[in-house]
Amino acid sequence: MTEIVINDRTIDAQPGQTVLEAALANGIFVPTFCWHPKLSVAGNCRMCLVEVEGRGLDIACNMPVTKGMRVLTDSPEVKAHRKAMLQFITLNHPVDCGICDKAGECRLQDYHYAYNGEPSLSVEPKVRSTKYYNLSSRILLDNERCILCLRCTRFTHEVSKSMALGIEHRGDTSVIRPVADRPLGEDPYSDNIIDLCPVGALQSRQFLHKTRVWYLKPTPSVCPGCARGCTIQVWHRKAEWRVKALDPAQNNAIARVTPLENPAVNGPWICNKGRDLARLLERQRATEPMLRGAPTSLEGALERARELIGAARHPVALVSSWGSNEELEAFRRHLGAVFTSFVKCDAVAEPGERIEDQLLIRADKNPNTAAAEALFGRAEAQLPEGTDLVLVWGEGFDFARLPRGARVLFLNAYLQPENGHADVFLPITIHTERAGHFTNFQGVVSAFQPCFEPPRGAAHAEALFAALAAPARVHA
Ligand code: SF4
Ligand code: SF4
Repeated sequence: MTEIVINDRTIDAQPGQTVLEAALANGIFVPTFCWHPKLSVAGNCRMCLVEVEGRGLDIACNMPVTKGMRVLTDSPEVKAHRKAMLQFITLNHPVDCGICDKAGECRLQDYHYAYNGEPSLSVEPKVRSTKYYNLSSRILLDNERCILCLRCTRFTHEVSKSMALGIEHRGDTSVIRPVADRPLGEDPYSDNIIDLCPVGALQSRQFLHKTRVWYLKPTPSVCPGCARGCTIQVWHRKAEWRVKALDPAQNNAIARVTPLENPAVNGPWICNKGRDLARLLERQRATEPMLRGAPTSLEGALERARELIGAARHPVALVSSWGSNEELEAFRRHLGAVFTSFVKCDAVAEPGERIEDQLLIRADKNPNTAAAEALFGRAEAQLPEGTDLVLVWGEGFDFARLPRGARVLFLNAYLQPENGHADVFLPITIHTERAGHFTNFQGVVSAFQPCFEPPRGAAHAEALFAALAAPARVHA
């Protein structure tokens, strides 16, 4: 330990820590723009200036702690320099807050009010720059808002390694630009730079001008896009801001997805597939139980399913690798003794999708294969002649593989042609409509919470398994 004093508080800092890290670790706030715990130190924003006894002012992000150093983070000199830096940083910054997607979560806005709060001292017109620069099909750049903190360029050099961004020109004509032969559009982690940008310079085309962030709330969840199981925040409209006209579908829609920092799984990052969850999850839903394509009541469907289970001599179940730990356990408890069960791969990589890399993306495109295989084994599904009943839970099974004459119970969340071919079809909820856990490929268990009400007609698989085992009443 290295003992230092910050604002008259004695602190035990870790050897090798910077003053900024020691301060933050001990609950002492120091403002920053360019510094990020997972990026190299750039030291260009000068917001973390502190005063060190005997040394004067210096940036805390690049200052290693030394025994006995005495630091002030809020002295009159520090405050004066912070204010001057904010005057400098906002010298050419447009006052766009009214139309900027970052409003409500912008560091520049917050720090301006906290540490400056005064109109610009400059009498010169602001330097104009590119307002809408097309960085990729996903990201727009507003160079007037950019404060050149270089978080975005460092991310592409140090984390995603696409080297897709650099800086062109000098002084007040400096601009972030894509590197000619390294398209940002091919970086599957590119959208992390939108979160990293401390101002509204990098804008998500998905989210552009869709809603203000204060109308939204984040719900903790887990990305089901691959076996990494990144923890995420699913942003959706707050109940008190539900829209009643225009497009009420917004009330039950994913507005955006951002990472939920988790050192054990994904750190502060996710890949773009995780951001695109709406495309994956907001497909048309199945909401009607059916008997060979004819709509029926839930009770009628369950009754028929129980008859088929009771009459089957060789029933096989293909268990979903998208089922939660709780659902998998419910299946094992209620139906595990009835069926010979195999774990099914529900999803595979789409054309053009990155299969696997060293950062986050895993080749297994299912979130809970680890938990499913722990309960039901790793053997490849066998559907021998003589199999007379197949319970298919979730997507990804080719119905052409069904043994001749076998009856089918199908539990699925989405509207698909196969639904109508099943002897019994039961519509089920998806993970944004219930609470539960997934276990990732490393064995780390992460929780997800419900974001939306399930559509009328869709039942929780857990309740269906109990009802299939015993005549119980299930409410959809
Ligand atoms: S675009 Fe944003 S993250 Fe990139 S340098 Fe400018 S302010 Fe920083
Ligand atoms: S790495 Fe996998 S789990 Fe993480 S965001 Fe991407 S698809 Fe989702």
